[in-house]
Amino acid sequence: MELDVRHAPDPVLSTVCAPADPCDPAVVELADAMVVLMHASPGCVGIAAPQVGHAVSLFVLDVTGARRVESCAGLVVLCSPVLVSSEGREVRREGCLSVPDLTGDVGRATSITVVGLVPGTGEERRIEANAFEARAFQHELDHVQGLLFLDRVAGAHALFPRKRYL
Ligand SMILES: [Zn+2]
Repeated sequence: MELDVRHAPDPVLSTVCAPADPCDPAVVELADAMVVLMHASPGCVGIAAPQVGHAVSLFVLDVTGARRVESCAGLVVLCSPVLVSSEGREVRREGCLSVPDLTGDVGRATSITVVGLVPGTGEERRIEANAFEARAFQHELDHVQGLLFLDRVAGAHALFPRKRYL
């Protein structure tokens, strides 16, 4: 399956995504292709479906080997994810495959709990995350709500030429 990475201001990136049926074979195929793309993209720890042109609530995430990692759930693939709790706040630099030229300082919760459905089985998966992984989850949760980190920065003073992406 060929995936086409979308860059801002592509309108699909600003779309509130429809629920994803975890038992739909097309969703499973899309998720598998997103995992391959994520692992093939240097420094990439997460991709949401709208970033490859599909306005469905699905993301893949894997912070294994990234810097500043505390919690690490390994590979996570979730349909219709929901943030069920969050605590703390920390501002850190963040980037995105869909915003190739910029990074930004973004305030995020430092620990979170997210629940979603696993493609293929439809089973519920619940993950508690902190530090870098918590930030990565919040970034992907934003994508399926049609939000980019650009929507979260305090202003133009919090944007920087890109060095690396999240
Ligand atoms: Zn992103």
